[in-house]
Amino acid sequence: MKLQDIETPVTSVSGIGPRFAKNLASLNIFTVSQLLTHYPRSYEDRTQLIPLAKFNSGQKVHTIARVTSHEWFGYGRMKTLKIRIEDDTASAVLVCFNRPFLEKTFPAGSIISVTGNFTEKYGDLQSASFEAELLQKDGDEELITKNEGFFSIATLYPLTAGLSQAQMHKFITTALHEYGKGINNEIPEFYRSKYGLLGKQEAIHLIHNPASIEEAEKARQTLIYEELFLFQLGIVKRTLDRKGHLPDETSYLQSDTDSVISDQNIAEKREKEESFYRSLSPKQKQLIDRLSFDLTSDQKSVILQMNKELDESFSGSSSFSMARLLQGDVGSGKTLVAFFACLRAVDSGFQCAILSPTELLSRQHAENAARLLEPISGVRLAYLTGNIQAKGRNKLLTELSQGSIDIVIGTHALFSKNVHYKHLRFAVIDEQHRFGVIQRNLIIEKGRSPEGKAPSFLMMSATPIPQTLALTVFGDLDVSVLRTMPPGRKCIQTHLTRAGNEARVYEAVRKEISDGRQAYFVYPLIEKADEETDQQDYLFDKKTELKSAEDMYSFLQKEVYPEFSCALVHSKVDEEDQHRILTDFSKGKIQILVATTVVEVGVDVPNATCMIIEHAERFGLAALHQLRGRVGRGKDQSHCFLIYSSKLTDAGKERLKAMHETTDGFQIAELDLKLRGPGEVSGIQQSGNLLLGIADPLRDKEILLQARKDVYEYLKDQSKSLTL
Ligand code: ADP
Ligand code: MG
Repeated sequence: MKLQDIETPVTSVSGIGPRFAKNLASLNIFTVSQLLTHYPRSYEDRTQLIPLAKFNSGQKVHTIARVTSHEWFGYGRMKTLKIRIEDDTASAVLVCFNRPFLEKTFPAGSIISVTGNFTEKYGDLQSASFEAELLQKDGDEELITKNEGFFSIATLYPLTAGLSQAQMHKFITTALHEYGKGINNEIPEFYRSKYGLLGKQEAIHLIHNPASIEEAEKARQTLIYEELFLFQLGIVKRTLDRKGHLPDETSYLQSDTDSVISDQNIAEKREKEESFYRSLSPKQKQLIDRLSFDLTSDQKSVILQMNKELDESFSGSSSFSMARLLQGDVGSGKTLVAFFACLRAVDSGFQCAILSPTELLSRQHAENAARLLEPISGVRLAYLTGNIQAKGRNKLLTELSQGSIDIVIGTHALFSKNVHYKHLRFAVIDEQHRFGVIQRNLIIEKGRSPEGKAPSFLMMSATPIPQTLALTVFGDLDVSVLRTMPPGRKCIQTHLTRAGNEARVYEAVRKEISDGRQAYFVYPLIEKADEETDQQDYLFDKKTELKSAEDMYSFLQKEVYPEFSCALVHSKVDEEDQHRILTDFSKGKIQILVATTVVEVGVDVPNATCMIIEHAERFGLAALHQLRGRVGRGKDQSHCFLIYSSKLTDAGKERLKAMHETTDGFQIAELDLKLRGPGEVSGIQQSGNLLLGIADPLRDKEILLQARKDVYEYLKDQSKSLTL
């Protein structure tokens, strides 16, 4: 049987009564299978003797010693036992706090095993935290055999109060003995032998009772591979159900073939270009004609791919619907790709919805769409947010339900109860990490066809999700990446400046603005007493004097840049005013925008070339990267100034260093993950998908990728043998 199917309660294991069962329950161990998969968090090599004289070797002393005498110190209830011992190399003292009973357990003259850390104190070698076991009572001939485990690899388990390592190990060993016989392998034999992995039963046995560290490691590798293989198998099977064929496994592993120039490459590229143009529907063609620039090759290949998929999904002949995650750094041109996909839906006679997390963002999409899509004949747009007044709203809702609107753009209002669509079949979810799974499902439910088929959707993310996590969390989506930036973008220069030298930065910025450019100044706080920022986790000193956006706005306007026009935006500024200020800024009427992280997403002003972030050490890496992405959007050289305090934490230092060294969002995302751990990366918590036990997608990335490949190969072979 499968290990996970051994659902017998732990109380069936000899030696586990109600009391221990309660302790185990607090570790979420209720069944035998949970007990057997309670793996050691580490091991201690006790196969070698480390005598007392080697107490300073960096390893715990692990020796066999003779008890020479007992002593007591302190008075009354505070009396503490000291046991004097000696081995072949030295003598020492075991200080038995709260363990007076050891006087009887280890009488003078007995031989005991001792494991522990020893230090020199008051002229003696001492240990207060030691483990000891009786090997031989004074005068006895034989060593007591139950301690044959003395020369072994000690397992160290995660524990809870009321359980010792020895008890935990004993429970598990007993359970293995009583229930471990029938455990079956769960991965195909082919891969097990290909990688020289152990059988499942042996792996479970050895991870709890290894004869060497190497053996424990081998057991771990077996279990890690198995977990990741089964995990990926589940994901890929789910995708198979949705699509009827295997997801495209290479999208993530796409290599940068653009940089290799060969005749074959050029021919391939031309072929690809041509099939891209051939694939365009009438409204898509009109959009191409309206653009003043050429699409990047990444944009073209994603659109080409989606055209195929959307056609298949709209045709109704198959059960397929598209589920694609589009990743691309800030400014890589995702919005345009989404517009092309929407036009495909409209050309097929369906409605689509573009969902954004904030009103600001959706208004910007609405404005872009009005500019680019409205003039295309037969495209009817609408903008729907929670703010729209009742009268206009009712008309809009009627139009949506009658199908006289093709593309609707808005916030979560798009899937409120009273919003009905005639035939919504495609949804774009921008900044997907800001939405929970439930919200995503709501929009999917709105778009189910009468036959119950799910709509297609495109999720977009400007916060690159590291490959590893994308495969685990979003593994059932197809992933496309816009790697190349639109041409003509200059690399942003990032400057690190220590607090105290702001004046130099202000002067450099003055020069840029005098040349006709614009600048953002970003602060962690809105106002002085305001500790409510989303950067709480980076507080290293609550008393630090922090500059606030409000204070700095008046300071910069009055003292530093009286000749320029400054404005202030943050989340407490009225939405209408925010919009007016951003419009004025994008028109160049305002030169300096003082802000909080509200400008992190969506603001697109190519003439802004300076991003100044004060207290930069207080921002997360993802936020810094997003903020920097606000500049470098035009033809001019852009600059990002990170002003940091001298009191830097190690993580703070790493973040700034990364910002200085790279502008590659994917590299930054990987590092962010490393510094914060997967639980912290946005969008992961809600997904509830990371239910891994022994494997860690970050640490075991190579195995994860290999397991994914193997799953594909395995399923392909299976389907081949089915058709034979
Ligand atoms: P993202 O949403 O990926 O951050 P946007 O879609 O907002 O990026 O695009 C950023 C800017 O780049 C927009 O002004 C857009 O019009 C422009 N853009 C998009 N694709 C191209 C391209 N192929 N060439 C030049 N500019 C482009
Ligand atoms: Mg965008």
